[in-house]
Amino acid sequence: MRRARTARNKARNFPSSLDVQDWLQSHPEALISCPHQPGNLKLMPAACAKRHRTANEPRWAVIGAEPFHLFVFKMNLVPCRTCQIGARLAAQQQERAA
Ligand code: SF4
Repeated sequence: MRRARTARNKARNFPSSLDVQDWLQSHPEALISCPHQPGNLKLMPAACAKRHRTANEPRWAVIGAEPFHLFVFKMNLVPCRTCQIGARLAAQQQERAA
């Protein structure tokens, strides 16, 4: 199903400048900082839990000779497999869903 198009002049206006650091200080639970991924990755707790669940799916567990983009994807999930933070967040999400 296609979304209805919105004319540019009727599109919602976003603030031209948003101070990200201020917003993060007023919403400290919105993003977590990952200690295992490179680049001081910040992500939503739901995304972290999803990464942990995906990393533990059997189809992403075996890393062999495969296309480069799949290889990179699987290698990025390796630290998430045994991560305690991801495990805790995934368990919390599962409790909330039940
Ligand atoms: S599961 Fe762990 S390693 Fe993966 S993104 Fe979350 S905190 Fe980082």
